[in-house]
Amino acid sequence: MTGRYVRVALDHPLDALYDYRYGLDSAPEPGMLVRVPFGRRDVVGLICEVNAHSDVPANKLRDVSAVCAACPPLSAQWLALAGFAADYYQRGLGEVALPALPQALRDPSRWARLLAPEERYRLSPQGRAALPDALPARAQALRRLAQALADAGELDAAAARALHPKAIATLEAWCEAGWVEHESIEFGAAPSVANSAAQTAAMVEVPRLSDEQAEAVEAIGAASGFAPFLLHGVTGSGKTEVYLRALAALLEREPGAQALVLVPEINLTPQFEAAFRTRFAARLADEAIVTLHSGLAEGERARNWLAAHTGRARIVLGTRLAVLASLPRLAMLVVDEEHDPAYKQQEGLRYSARDLAVWRAKQLGVPVVLGSATPSLESWWQTEQGRYTRLTLSRRAIADAVLPTVKLIDLEEERRRGRASFEGLSGPLVAAMKARLERGEQSLLFLNRRGYAPTLACDSCGWVAGCPRCSAYVVLHKPERALRCHHCGWESRIPHSCPECGNVDIAPMGRGTQRIEEALASAVPGARVLRIDADSTRRKGSAQALFSDVHAGEVDILVGTQMIAKGHDFQRVSLVGVLNADNALFSHDFRAGERLFAQLMQVSGRAGRAGLAGEVLVQTRYPRHALYHALARQDYVGFANTQVAERRDAHLPPFVYQALLRAEGRTLEAALAFLAQAAEALTAIAGAERVMAYDAVPLTIVKVMNVHRAQLLVESQSRAALQATLRAWQPALRALRGVLRWNLEVDPLDI
Ligand code: ADP
Ligand code: ZN
Ligand code: ZN
Repeated sequence: MTGRYVRVALDHPLDALYDYRYGLDSAPEPGMLVRVPFGRRDVVGLICEVNAHSDVPANKLRDVSAVCAACPPLSAQWLALAGFAADYYQRGLGEVALPALPQALRDPSRWARLLAPEERYRLSPQGRAALPDALPARAQALRRLAQALADAGELDAAAARALHPKAIATLEAWCEAGWVEHESIEFGAAPSVANSAAQTAAMVEVPRLSDEQAEAVEAIGAASGFAPFLLHGVTGSGKTEVYLRALAALLEREPGAQALVLVPEINLTPQFEAAFRTRFAARLADEAIVTLHSGLAEGERARNWLAAHTGRARIVLGTRLAVLASLPRLAMLVVDEEHDPAYKQQEGLRYSARDLAVWRAKQLGVPVVLGSATPSLESWWQTEQGRYTRLTLSRRAIADAVLPTVKLIDLEEERRRGRASFEGLSGPLVAAMKARLERGEQSLLFLNRRGYAPTLACDSCGWVAGCPRCSAYVVLHKPERALRCHHCGWESRIPHSCPECGNVDIAPMGRGTQRIEEALASAVPGARVLRIDADSTRRKGSAQALFSDVHAGEVDILVGTQMIAKGHDFQRVSLVGVLNADNALFSHDFRAGERLFAQLMQVSGRAGRAGLAGEVLVQTRYPRHALYHALARQDYVGFANTQVAERRDAHLPPFVYQALLRAEGRTLEAALAFLAQAAEALTAIAGAERVMAYDAVPLTIVKVMNVHRAQLLVESQSRAALQATLRAWQPALRALRGVLRWNLEVDPLDI
């Protein structure tokens, strides 16, 4: 009898597959999720092979205990994707495949619940009028539930229960009262045709494409087989419209086809989701567009993932983790803001979602569109060599919207001339903000540093507030009245006097977003100031609320970190001020310039989107720096070509391939010694002549949480040689001791 044994991948840091006996009724198939005993626990495994024999002695073999009925087998193509990612990023298959699944699928105790119908509750029109006012003021839990219903439009049973343990009983009572409508959706049900947005669909205005947009859409539509495109479009040039049209054409051409659209940040998903839902309301049911990101509740994430996996979802919109979604009919991929470092996962499996998206397109022979105003040098170089097709949108899409003018404010000059400034805000910048305030337009200040000040210092003895656990300063947070370490989370109260010398004149050093927010109150009196950064948006959903305040015009000046720089289509922002960008000009990291340029182009792009003349003011001590000059001319192409030439001369990526071995030890010596041994082991590998190892060095912030960190960079002219060497290196690395942890990153971004 065949097929009695299965080889299973487990989430375990080794390459090995594990043999099990299979005695269940249903036939085993590769790609099935199964529950198997492992040691003393039960774990989830993925069947990779079905065999008639096993070399494991019968008395050592254990049995598969269950199959996950909620999840039809993953396809051979998906297994190949996981296999490629595992090989390329130097991991085991199980270590890649299992964490790629939603949590609910990795926990067998929840499998049955996934099959249960999904219960949804939404407010009826009567409910909308009556709640929460009909509830007693003291019934706070009930009011919260009503508010959550009103805010979200609908709640599923799990989300409701999370708000209140007795929520379901309450919701049922509200159903009786006619305030709430209840819907029960069978597991795996086809998307309903009834569509909440369908009525509005007829009224959706589809803009006439510009010539450049039309050319781009046509080129994408005409592609056959693997076709990588780089859509290089200035900010506001209507890249989203190109994606929408290309997808519409695809759905028209291939009924049932699926598309994957990646965005770099969770905060950008609502804007995209809304645009996609409206545009496709007539063609697709609501359920056919799903999002996948880490902000979803686990149940919702599992349902959306399964909708993609079973082909019910046609457009999957997500952040980087969505690149590993199972999409059996995937026919096009889009990566918006493809240059964004957020596409690189920085822990666990350190993968690049953009690179995996391109690999998937190649595997399936389908188009992939990488969009950006400031493409990564890697992608740009691909177009220069003719491997990717470049599509250019050189103008803003809206007729009277033009790119903003960029001006540099020379801070030295301001100082020399003795011109007034307000706490780091130069005179010209303040004047420009006041002019906007008078005209009822919005200003945006970009400062990539949250907190009140980078640290606190004593003038008389030179003491600087540092973290006891890290080799880093602690950041002063004024509203929270705390000193906080941004590396390990250590926190303490703000001291009244210098802990070293007792001096009471200790003062904040440098400026963060909170301090700028404070300075604005006196610099631009009467302005409504809003700060958006990781601190002000800690609570779930609060970022969305803050952004809608900006869109609603309830804010005059928006201060924020890179969270406000990306992708948002602010209609009334006509001024962008850039503060303290100079630090990045002199970084050790060869990518710092590329990143800064992209960030400043992005944030500049927030100005003047809807016909208001936009202006960008950059405060700097280095107004003659080449990067700022390229920025002032909005000259990405010039900047990119210079950078490419520099990288070529200096033998840096994309002209070499790199990997980084990082070690964490109790002492720096231990970490460095480990890396020295690792380098030694590398030279013993056949073929390693083509791979060069640099000297091991401490990380810039060498100590975090009392752990000392160092790294060893290896590189090669040949990707294949590097890959082969890394694979051969692994057993030697595993045999080494003396550090707490180590990891290997392929194509590292931060060096
Ligand atoms: P990008 O992503 O390139 O920065 P967006 O996709 O945000 O640009 O588009 C900028 C604005 O231009 C949006 O408000 C969009 O609705 C509008 N837009 C896009 N294409 C057109 C067009 N062909 N005609 C008129 N408006 C357009
Ligand atoms: Zn002191
Ligand atoms: Zn710390």
